[in-house]
Amino acid sequence: MSKPFASSADTHHQKARLVELAPDVYGYISDFDPNTGMIFGGGEGLAIDCRATPRLANEMLIEIKQVNSAPITRLFLTHYHAVRVMGRAAFTDVHTVLCSEGTRALIDERGAFDFESEVRRFPRLFEAVEEVEGLTWPDQTFPQRTILYMGDQEIHLEHLGSGHTRGDSVAWLPEHRVLFSGDLIEDRCALYCGDAYLHEWRETLERLAARNARVVVPGRGDAIIGEENVRKAIDSTRGFLDDLLGGCDRAMQKKDATLKEIFDAVYAEMTPKYGEWPIYEHCIPFNVSRAVDELKGLKEPSIWTAERDAELWEALQS
Ligand SMILES: [Zn+2]
Repeated sequence: MSKPFASSADTHHQKARLVELAPDVYGYISDFDPNTGMIFGGGEGLAIDCRATPRLANEMLIEIKQVNSAPITRLFLTHYHAVRVMGRAAFTDVHTVLCSEGTRALIDERGAFDFESEVRRFPRLFEAVEEVEGLTWPDQTFPQRTILYMGDQEIHLEHLGSGHTRGDSVAWLPEHRVLFSGDLIEDRCALYCGDAYLHEWRETLERLAARNARVVVPGRGDAIIGEENVRKAIDSTRGFLDDLLGGCDRAMQKKDATLKEIFDAVYAEMTPKYGEWPIYEHCIPFNVSRAVDELKGLKEPSIWTAERDAELWEALQS
């Protein structure tokens, strides 16, 4: 590879902070690294995603202990991406890991490839990666929805359709109207679409919008507070998808357009609007590649391997 991926040069450590969003409901939020969450009730806790490595997960656990010392006994995975799930070993009190059936299938099919690929693409996010003990497997899965009751907390874990990945699910607290969206919603941060189902994503966003959430913890970026701001964030997430798909579609109208030509056209269109958004440069090659595949009728996103990353880079530099 003649040039490294955009984010391999990003070495700035982002300190996350704990934000209470409703009684005993917390987001652990950094500038734009992957967010996580924690909910307490009935003398125990649930973690929503567990960060990229045990060391990073421990940072979070030390901080949460200052405000609530109940053991975290359950862990919910919003989706299979390594940057969110490889910190499992730090959660020594967890007896049950939950995710959707779709996510479990993806861990089985491509979890190991994804781990290798993500570490190579974005090394800063995997501090002390050598402490990872292996893939994070669920103990319990659900097809569409499962409801947890922890003391007074009622927590819905729901797969509302594919989008960012095939298995995406959210944690929804109907009483507080707080939604942990995983990477299905981003706020002024680029979407990663390399494993996405772009057309279905738009439909899944409609179902999320219908919840009329008061607070959303997006995949990356600050907690979104207030119905108006939630609506704006969902609209801007949809707008990014529309611009990506529309740009690729237009560029593909040119007979025999190469991937490089399509990429250049989409990049020129999207960069004035999104160029300043975090991880835009990192995501855009993978996003264009997947959007072109989907528009050509390839239903399932191809697995990203070292060879495929290198091929993509080669094609875009030619
Ligand atoms: Zn993701």
